[in-house]
Amino acid sequence: MDSVTAARNATASATTQAAPDTTSGGQTNVQSPQETDGFHLLIDALKLNGIDTVFGLPGIPITDLTRKAQAAGLRVISFRHEQNAGYAASIAGFMTQKPGICLTVSAPGFLNGLTALANATTNCFPMILISGSSEREVVDLQQGDYEEMDQLAIAKPLAKAAFRVLHAEDIGVGVARAIRAAVSGRPGGVYLDLPAKLFPQAMDAEAGRNSLIKVVDPAPRQIPGRDAVERALDLLKAAKRPLIILGKGAAYAQADADIRALIEKTGIPYLPMSMAKGLLPDTHPQCASAARSYVLPEADVVMLIGARLNWLLSHGKGKTWGGASAKEWGGQRFIQLDISPQEADSNVRIDAPVVGDIGSCVSAMLAAIDATAGSGWAKPPADWLDAVAERRNKNVAKMAETLAKDPTPMNFHSALNVVRDIVKSNPDAILVNEGANALDFTRSIVDMYKPRKRLDVGTWGVMGIGMGFSVAAAVVSGQPVIAIEGDSAFGFSGMEVETICRYNLPICVVILNNNGVYRGDEVNPTGGRDPAPLVFVKDARYEKLMEAFGGVGVHATTPGDLRKAMEDAIRSRRPTLINAIIDEKAGTESGRITSLNPSAKKK
Ligand code: ADP
Repeated sequence: MDSVTAARNATASATTQAAPDTTSGGQTNVQSPQETDGFHLLIDALKLNGIDTVFGLPGIPITDLTRKAQAAGLRVISFRHEQNAGYAASIAGFMTQKPGICLTVSAPGFLNGLTALANATTNCFPMILISGSSEREVVDLQQGDYEEMDQLAIAKPLAKAAFRVLHAEDIGVGVARAIRAAVSGRPGGVYLDLPAKLFPQAMDAEAGRNSLIKVVDPAPRQIPGRDAVERALDLLKAAKRPLIILGKGAAYAQADADIRALIEKTGIPYLPMSMAKGLLPDTHPQCASAARSYVLPEADVVMLIGARLNWLLSHGKGKTWGGASAKEWGGQRFIQLDISPQEADSNVRIDAPVVGDIGSCVSAMLAAIDATAGSGWAKPPADWLDAVAERRNKNVAKMAETLAKDPTPMNFHSALNVVRDIVKSNPDAILVNEGANALDFTRSIVDMYKPRKRLDVGTWGVMGIGMGFSVAAAVVSGQPVIAIEGDSAFGFSGMEVETICRYNLPICVVILNNNGVYRGDEVNPTGGRDPAPLVFVKDARYEKLMEAFGGVGVHATTPGDLRKAMEDAIRSRRPTLINAIIDEKAGTESGRITSLNPSAKKK
């Protein structure tokens, strides 16, 4: 039985088996079987709520907590940097709908974890950052403790909620509140502050057991109003050129069958946002990804399902949407299915907000469509569907031509053509993706076939998620993971290849290496000895980093090399890093978001 299964099977009875932890190597705080303490109460509270894995980095004051958690049957995944542990926790939350837990030490460790917490909140991923902290008395008087910091105050603006627990008997409530805050409504990041003194606090075991809370219905369904559903359907029915946009909120909701049924029943073309790719296979005949620049300005009614009209959708206006100028409305009418009532009208008018959880909203829409079946639910006009199909087929053919080229050295297309095939033959593998060009090209070239298989830089376009997401994806799913990384992006979390080897995870990292940020051919214009700010060591042998820890390293200069190495990695499930050498002149500045550079804006 592996430790995850053991953890699942373990009764989280909170008896804490308060016998001294001879296995822990740490201090024994519990004095007798009748007593429990903060360490055990925290572990029991997590287990009681079905949490079987924690991500983190040990150190004062949580070192013993990690030992005791492992001894108690939790899977403890220790990282080399808290930020990566935090990203791992957040994506575990996205994948499982249970809050991902990240444990850190105080001040600097807490701050390292905070980026991931803020990113989780921004992306609506449920996560709990649990950090040890200094004692309140010392912090509040600013007396200069070891790693002193008012962590709660700092976390508050970046988290959906933040709590501190001072007494062992309140741990149950603290954990319950953190879980509810993380997963209910719009999911997000929660901070739980645990001062060092809390952990060894002893209390009666029976009272401790009674103080714990198994959270009932942590993410209650939210049923949309019938009038809201009807308003939305009326708008959809009247549309001449309707479009559905699926966002990562739809992927998170795990309402896959109903979402597919809604799309197929209505016959409306749909556009998946990056992390919603695969919710239906990208090869689905209604998928309009390859006609994106056509459908956005042309659509007259757009139904957003778990997607925000933020910068990734050009705020719902401007030229992308057919507006005459950068800020002008394109004339579309919007329906928005979202759990957050405050989301509507954040950028443009939402004519039909449908507020509720995606599962309930989509099934209510389906039921209402079925109810109108007698009067006939008409598919969208054929001229719209034909126009979308024509555009899509043209672009797909154009892409196929580009992918068929085999230049030397490789470029993004020829390398990603291989990745595309590998993902097609391994649809259960999880694809993690970050970079600038490496992100943009992978998103458009590599089709996804199953839900929640594509994990990427999300709402912020953050760099650094790569190895943290990969570790969590492998740990949570047991499936092979393929991480497609720009060489720059990889640098943010590269040391975690040691973690990958230590836990022997089936992760295949592919670095699309073009020697720099965006590209690798810039030179210092002064002719001085320093390299240009955007270039890295030329011909760096990243694969040796993986070899250093016992994994497989491959230097791939042709699509054939890359294909063989990826196939071997998937088959063997051994930690593998493939250094795929790309033309250093390949790549544009900032990938597809060059226009966001201030200098581009001035032009
Ligand atoms: P994308 O980047 O893929 O467009 P966003 O992160 O912008 O997606 O949007 C996700 C949206 O989904 C958020 O507005 C969030 O409130 C919503 N959401 C998240 N989970 C759920 C859920 N279970 N039910 C309904 N809406 C959800």
